[in-house]
Amino acid sequence: MEKKTLTPYIVVVALMLATSLALAFTVDVSITDEAGVTLELPDEIGDWTGLEIRFCLNARCQRAATVDQLEDIDVCNECEGKMSTMSFIEAQQLPADTMMIKKRYEDRLGRQLMVAIVLSGRERASIHRPEVCLVGQGRELVESRVFSVPVEDRGSPLDVMMLELHRPARAGGPFGEENMYYAYWFAGKNRETPHHVMRMIYMASDRIFHNVAHRWAYISVSGMRRPNSNEHEVLVSEFIRELYPHLMLKPGA
Ligand SMILES: [Zn+2]
Repeated sequence: MEKKTLTPYIVVVALMLATSLALAFTVDVSITDEAGVTLELPDEIGDWTGLEIRFCLNARCQRAATVDQLEDIDVCNECEGKMSTMSFIEAQQLPADTMMIKKRYEDRLGRQLMVAIVLSGRERASIHRPEVCLVGQGRELVESRVFSVPVEDRGSPLDVMMLELHRPARAGGPFGEENMYYAYWFAGKNRETPHHVMRMIYMASDRIFHNVAHRWAYISVSGMRRPNSNEHEVLVSEFIRELYPHLMLKPGA
């Protein structure tokens, strides 16, 4: 009996929920160009020196090169194709107004890591869960966890998602065994989260309650790791502490 009397309420609540979700993603909101971070990566971060990486958009070439290897940073040395900040596959899959920068950093000990900032465009589809792209091609996710990076002048530590991936060596294949890590977080205007779901909730609530859709970015730091060791997390944590202040938008930007 009780179940029966509750049914209309459940229906109403479900309808309201469906309506607000539909509104959230269809109603015309004022899309702002406001981002939470800058789209620049400095050449020097602490003891690390970085070089921008560019990619040839010619489907048959797809060469990646650091800018010091290019005479003209927009032209491929091999095929004279157009060099872009995003790879051939990213350029195919992401909306055209997605913006990106990638740099490879190296310290005096020869340790290397890659940093990328991806800034969504008007379509907001530019950013999805990195897991989707990383897993596959023989790679599997070994572990994912959130770790905290104490950052100066930020009220609380920054939460960052750490993915650990593994690709076994394939018999007769060109690649050996690979152990990599991929650390990332999402940054919107005055908001940061390591969780894709939280970002979706922030976006929906901005649309419903404030009628705005800011540009979100995602920042990643990735590289190779030693299996069964935590040293990559220590390294990434130290690096992000140095990187973080550089990501802040300059006044007036
Ligand atoms: Zn090329």
